[in-house]
Amino acid sequence: MNPKLSRRVNEMSTSATLAMAAKARELKEQGKNIIGLSLGEPDFTIPEFVKDAAIQAIKDNYHAYSPVDGYAELKKAIITKFKRDNHLTYKPSQIVVSTGAKQSLANLAQVLLNDGDEVLLPAPYWVSYADISLLAGGIPVEIPATIETDFKITPEALEAAITPKSKMMIYSSPCNPSGSVYSREELRALADILVKYPDIIVISDEIYEHINFVGEHVSMAAFEDMYDRTVTVNGVSKAYSMTGWRIGYIGAPEYIAKACNKMQGQVTSGANCIAQRATIVALEHSPTEIQYMVDAFKERRKLILGLLSEIPGIKTNEPEGAFYVFPDISYYFGKTLKGRTIHSAEDFAMYLLEVAGVATVTGEAFGDPNCIRISYAASEDDIREAMKRVKEALA
Ligand code: PMP
Ligand code: GLU
Repeated sequence: MNPKLSRRVNEMSTSATLAMAAKARELKEQGKNIIGLSLGEPDFTIPEFVKDAAIQAIKDNYHAYSPVDGYAELKKAIITKFKRDNHLTYKPSQIVVSTGAKQSLANLAQVLLNDGDEVLLPAPYWVSYADISLLAGGIPVEIPATIETDFKITPEALEAAITPKSKMMIYSSPCNPSGSVYSREELRALADILVKYPDIIVISDEIYEHINFVGEHVSMAAFEDMYDRTVTVNGVSKAYSMTGWRIGYIGAPEYIAKACNKMQGQVTSGANCIAQRATIVALEHSPTEIQYMVDAFKERRKLILGLLSEIPGIKTNEPEGAFYVFPDISYYFGKTLKGRTIHSAEDFAMYLLEVAGVATVTGEAFGDPNCIRISYAASEDDIREAMKRVKEALA
């Protein structure tokens, strides 16, 4: 707490994913051998066609402010992508390009929430949903799901969490941190509840749509009766490995898109122009061109699940997408390892960092205090070495 700073920022938590990544970086700089499995960041390089498009954009003298909500050509590419991959039809006035999906989500919270509005968060949920909501005056309401149900909520649990103050629901499928993928039937069952409460806006975060090992990706907005109340969030960080390029986008009901455009016009003036030009080319390529990344993630999932199964007290399910495992490690609570007593997932993650030199993220940050998140967006050698060290540290 610093009284010189605003209440807003004093009350806000630091992003646990970014904090752990910073800590791991700091320890590495001190010469410690740290394997980073904390950040959800593909370790592949950017496809050549994306690099070429960015270089060409610079040569073509793209340098000025773009339209606040994105270049017309980029919106066109996004509209084509939504149609091609998600069976969604949007007009240009329904699309807003932002500085990462994170900004898309922050815009949505700012334009939709009033003080005291409740935000339904199927838990575990992505780390920033809660603080982005709090910052906009919203109140996060967790709907807990455990490893026994593959971390997916039931329609009954959703309905039980709804109150007259419920304004928004945010979820990701494939899910960060659990890797769970909602099937068409499961999403339809949630939609059947939501249609009874027309004031609730659904934010469907589909940034991992292509990193799906079970097949079908289903967009909530593709259900006709949900289209007018759903915002589809996506971006190029995960599918094209373009994390640092900071491009995300939404397809939304027009009044919401307009509001996001207005918000962004006062806050950033729009996303980086070179990254936008490169995104046009990225989206024009068929998702099959990045299948090699998905295949590699699938292999690594098999590898890490196999290695984790050899470690006593670590309970995993089989994640169906994204590049995370979210094991339940509550077996270790109350146990003393190398003179240190583990009271929480936070203690457990710190123990792994300091004793095994492996960076992970505590599940508390994702709304599940029994788990930790391990990102397997790392080389097979790093995964093998990391799991060997974890096994030794927990022996
Ligand atoms: N949603 C989820 C579920 C994520 O994991 C991330 C992490 N990058 C984001 C949104 C934000 O992505 P971006 O890099 O586009 O801001
Ligand atoms: N989304 C990634 C993660 O969950 C990147 C970090 C972040 O944006 O917070 O690790």
